[in-house]
Amino acid sequence: MRVIKDLTDKNLDIISKKLIEGDVVAIPTETVYGLAANALNPSAVSKIFKIKGRPSDNPLIVHISGLDMIKKFAIDVPDIAYKLAEKFWPGPLTIILKKSNIVPDITTGGLGSVALRAPAHESALKIIRSTNLGLAAPSANISGKPSPTTASHCQKDLGSKIDIIVDGGPCNFGIESTVVSLLDKTPCLLRPGVITQDQIKKITGKLEISKNILEKYTSEETLISPGMKYKHYAPDAEVILIKSNLNNFINYINKIQDKNCAVLIFKGEEKNINKPYFILGSKDDFISQSQNLFRILREIDETDFKKIYVRCPEISGVGLAVYNRLIRAANFNIINIDD
Ligand code: AMP
Ligand code: MG
Repeated sequence: MRVIKDLTDKNLDIISKKLIEGDVVAIPTETVYGLAANALNPSAVSKIFKIKGRPSDNPLIVHISGLDMIKKFAIDVPDIAYKLAEKFWPGPLTIILKKSNIVPDITTGGLGSVALRAPAHESALKIIRSTNLGLAAPSANISGKPSPTTASHCQKDLGSKIDIIVDGGPCNFGIESTVVSLLDKTPCLLRPGVITQDQIKKITGKLEISKNILEKYTSEETLISPGMKYKHYAPDAEVILIKSNLNNFINYINKIQDKNCAVLIFKGEEKNINKPYFILGSKDDFISQSQNLFRILREIDETDFKKIYVRCPEISGVGLAVYNRLIRAANFNIINIDD
């Protein structure tokens, strides 16, 4: 396994060749690191599913270089798709469109739709352009574990299974893209990310919000985004999300006798807490929270703590995306103390 830091022409050639030949490469993006393969090559895409242990009905996002590649992968593209792409690409917004015939079923988990996005990361864009491929690239981790936000996270999870990891430094945002479906008349938010509902609504006017964002998957019937039904982002330690004000949180935590637990709190809240703690970021800086979240969940896995009690972030703006990841990391184990 090789970690490539400099995207020299020679290295870019090596990476492109690998992808064109139908192999996988871990690449950086501004959201999380992705395990990339040619989205139109079923055998290449099958390697992604196998290496990650990803359920085959969980579709992949196809990473493209920009608007001009949309028509290759999608048909019946509504104007609003171009408007969103013009505004947010390259960037952490994925749009769901009707798929074109050339996109194989394995890439879309058997769905008739395809997820597209142009990543805002120079290395990712360079690699896409040099291959001239759409790259299917889910997070470069073992399925179910916290997503990787550095090259060494990828190395830890997949180092023995892949040949090349491109090191582009820590990811700017640290959580996965916002996903919006444009299949119906009214666009629908399927997964929150750092591009918020309000930002999208400014372009689309209306926006429905999928129930799956905040609720545990209960039946196929209500499920629009297959990824939402799986256990996700979970460290080995048990995560318990505590919804309460700071005082109640501290009282609750300080009474716990368990020596194997730690807490995840916001900057400045550590003063009266009698447990080991990790800091998620500033309470009102959601980007710092998103940048740190998966890194900290992984850090906790390096310790002997068996339980981690987490202060609930505010559920507005980008906070909704942080919350969405946390409730899944906690497997919906949420304690409401203020009630
Ligand atoms: P990941 O690659 O792990 O970031 O996950 C991609 C997310 O996009 C998952 O939640 C998928 O369910 C969702 N997704 C990808 N393609 C589609 C699609 N065609 N329709 C609905 N959701 C999709
Ligand atoms: Mg993932």
